[in-house]
Amino acid sequence: MQSNPMQAQDITAVRGAFLDFTGDPFRCNERDSVRYVKDGLLVLKGGKVEAFGDYGTIAPQYQGISITEYPEKLIIPGFLDIHVHYPQTEIIAAYGEQLLTWLERYTFPTEAKFHDEDYARQIATIFLDELLRNGTTTALVLTTIFPQSVEVLFEEADRRNMRMIAGQVWMDRNAPDFLTNTAINSYQQSREQIERWHNRGRQLYAITPRFAITSTDHELQLAGKLKAEFPDVYVHTHLSENAQEIAYTAELFPDTQDYLEVYEKYGLVGDRSIFAHGLHLSESEFQRLSQAGATIAFCPTSNLFLGSGLFKLHRAKSIDSPVKVGLASDVGGGTSFSMLHTMSDAYKITQLQRQNLSSFKAFYLATLGAADSLSLSDKLGNFDLGKEADFTVLDLHATPLMTLRNGTVPAASLDVLEAQLFGTMILGDDRTIAATYVAGKPLYQNPSLLGEV
Ligand SMILES: [Zn+2]
Repeated sequence: MQSNPMQAQDITAVRGAFLDFTGDPFRCNERDSVRYVKDGLLVLKGGKVEAFGDYGTIAPQYQGISITEYPEKLIIPGFLDIHVHYPQTEIIAAYGEQLLTWLERYTFPTEAKFHDEDYARQIATIFLDELLRNGTTTALVLTTIFPQSVEVLFEEADRRNMRMIAGQVWMDRNAPDFLTNTAINSYQQSREQIERWHNRGRQLYAITPRFAITSTDHELQLAGKLKAEFPDVYVHTHLSENAQEIAYTAELFPDTQDYLEVYEKYGLVGDRSIFAHGLHLSESEFQRLSQAGATIAFCPTSNLFLGSGLFKLHRAKSIDSPVKVGLASDVGGGTSFSMLHTMSDAYKITQLQRQNLSSFKAFYLATLGAADSLSLSDKLGNFDLGKEADFTVLDLHATPLMTLRNGTVPAASLDVLEAQLFGTMILGDDRTIAATYVAGKPLYQNPSLLGEV
């Protein structure tokens, strides 16, 4: 079929080696979940995938369109980071504390600065640029208690046409006065933001009580009421991260049997609920999360950095009662925006528990698995036709050591590819990102590679 000239102007394409997933490698023979097209063509129209497959098959159907070629690279779906605090961008790598004292000493004073809209916009800009520099195209983001910190993030994400999920942070106790809001204000402000931003362009909203400790019963009640009024918005909070936090939560909510029940009691646990960490969950809590279809955000660099604990990935992804899991940076408790670094620490956490994590599983957890955990796998996560064209071009030869380790690219077989991906997740970082595309447009190109393409 020959495209007509008008169409050809709207249609572009990218040629190279492609990897994505069409299933969950934790639930089938891993290789059956992998789609590897060594010389592929991804045809883009209106920010979406118009066609995808072998170059030799697809190219004749789209003669005359502009094609960008990425030889010796690997093109994958854009990474999703399903739990990250944009206001903490500047306190990444803050020394020496565990969760509750880290919040008091570093986080709360920094979040107070987001009262200033100009400042908030400056950090939102740096944050979004940093995501793109690391190949991340979608994130589930915490802001602060200040409505202006939410507005500027949505405005900047909308300007870049990036799919973001975010919401105002609710805190009405156990935080400094300068960082608490009343429950009714949080409710009303979030309600207005849902009406303004949820499903506007690519933006989506999450009701975001910080965690049980910083919300009264009344505030959690209002959060549940808001969720009931807008069932398709997300709920985003923290769960079972740190031993002290868990003990304090039990004191504050003496009539609940465990941490998860605090959120269950207020109608906050469902298939669009994302709980960061979940490190010290009981078997009953895992089973209830599974039944509810809720998600755990696995934040390896943060869990190690704050000394919080080791996530039981293999329990969460068990065949009998699986819980949805996506990878997350949790910056600034996490130490890197790079989902490659995040995979590397995820691997080490499984090793400390006498388990392991294959490269295919790790890349799945940062792409299609993460999209599925956000109920967005109909829009994001792989190169299926009609999906939003967010993708990342990886340079598996980003450093001399990676060139030595990874050998010839593209890989000749799935065995070689699996080994290259593992080398890349252990050795890679922002230098590995050659380009990042959002809705079919290149929003980031690695300056050191500009001459090559
Ligand atoms: Zn967090």
